[in-house]
Amino acid sequence: MINIVLFGKPGAGKGTQADFLKGKYNLTHISTGDVFRYNIKNETELGKQAKAFMDAGDLVPDSLTIKMLQDEVEKHTGTAGFLFDGFPRTVHQAEALDAFLISKGWEVTATIALEADDEVLVQRLLERGKTSGRPDDQDEALIRNRYQEYNHKTAPLADFYKNQKKFYEVDGIGSIQEVTERLSLVIDSLN
Ligand code: ADP
Repeated sequence: MINIVLFGKPGAGKGTQADFLKGKYNLTHISTGDVFRYNIKNETELGKQAKAFMDAGDLVPDSLTIKMLQDEVEKHTGTAGFLFDGFPRTVHQAEALDAFLISKGWEVTATIALEADDEVLVQRLLERGKTSGRPDDQDEALIRNRYQEYNHKTAPLADFYKNQKKFYEVDGIGSIQEVTERLSLVIDSLN
C-alpha cells in the first residue's frame, strides 16, 4: 500500500499531475474538489451543504469534508494505494486522515508539495476559469480568498508532515511532463 498526499496551492497542478500518476502507479485518485463538484452538480444533500462555501472560495467545514473523504476511501478498499488531491487541507483533517488510515492498518507514505509562486498561480487560475466553468476560478477576489484560506489553514500542514519526516517538495514550474518526472523521482525513492 502506498498512500500519497499531493499538496500545493490552488492551481499548483495537483489534478493534472494526479491524472498521470494514478495510471503510472496504479493508485486510486481522490480529489475532494471533484467529489464536491460532482455532488453540487447532482444536487445531493452534501452538495447543497458545500456549495455556499465553495462559491465563496472558503474551505468546506472539516466535519463534512472528513466524512466525505472516508466514504470515498471505503469505496476502494481493495486498491494498491491512494492519491489524495486536495485533502487534507487543515491540520484537523490531517489528524483525522492519520487516525482513519491507522484504523485500516495503513498510513500516509509521503506528502509531496508542488511549489509555485502565487502570482503565477493566480494567472493560471484566471486562464482556467475561462474554460473550466468554475465560479471560484472566474473572480480574482475569490481566488485571492482561496490563497488566504490556504496560507492560514493549509500551509501549517507542511510542518505537520515535516515532523513526521514525510514531506517532499517538488518544483511545480515547468512542462507537465517535467513536473511528472520530478514527482516520479520522489515516489520511486519511497520503495
Ligand atoms: P483548487 O485546489 O484549485 O482550489 P479544488 O478543486 O481542490 O481546487 O477545491 C475547490 C474548493 O473545494 C475549495 O476552495 C474548497 O471550497 C473545497 N474543498 C476541496 N477540498 C477541501 C478540503 N479538503 N477541505 C475543505 N474544503 C475543500
